[in-house]
Amino acid sequence: MTFESPDIPDHKGFAAPVLPTGEPAPSAEAFTRTFVGYQAACSCEWTDRRRFPATPEGAKEAEYRWWSRHAAPLMAAAPPGELVAKSNLLCERIVKLAAERPLAALTLLSQVESWQRTLLDQAVTRAREAGASWAQVGEAMGISKQSAHERFRTHANS
Ligand SMILES: [Zn+2]
Repeated sequence: MTFESPDIPDHKGFAAPVLPTGEPAPSAEAFTRTFVGYQAACSCEWTDRRRFPATPEGAKEAEYRWWSRHAAPLMAAAPPGELVAKSNLLCERIVKLAAERPLAALTLLSQVESWQRTLLDQAVTRAREAGASWAQVGEAMGISKQSAHERFRTHANS
């Protein structure tokens, strides 16, 4: 049994049976009769160190551990899937508009650019105020820590 959320599609959590060697089994389906406990694990290869008893309750605790220790922080940093879909749709529509009516696309794109810049500055400032590091800001934007710092240091307290 795996656990997942549409906002973090690359992460599927499961309670991994721990083998007598102390290693977690590669998946919940890799069943073994000789497992000695459960550990929270994820399809991204994240595993939790804490071991829970080899009981149905232990499995539930390991599953909850995946949510609390791994999925919840990732979901906090992941944009809602519904907004990602709308953003992708807007992009596709503008590509089409640019091909058919390029001047109309220019007007629309300059509008998007004006609010996008303001919102980006606000989001960086807010993230820094909330304690995010430049590395975290860069990671969220898909750029390096140095690039994020150089680009935004005048907007947010460095
Ligand atoms: Zn994961």
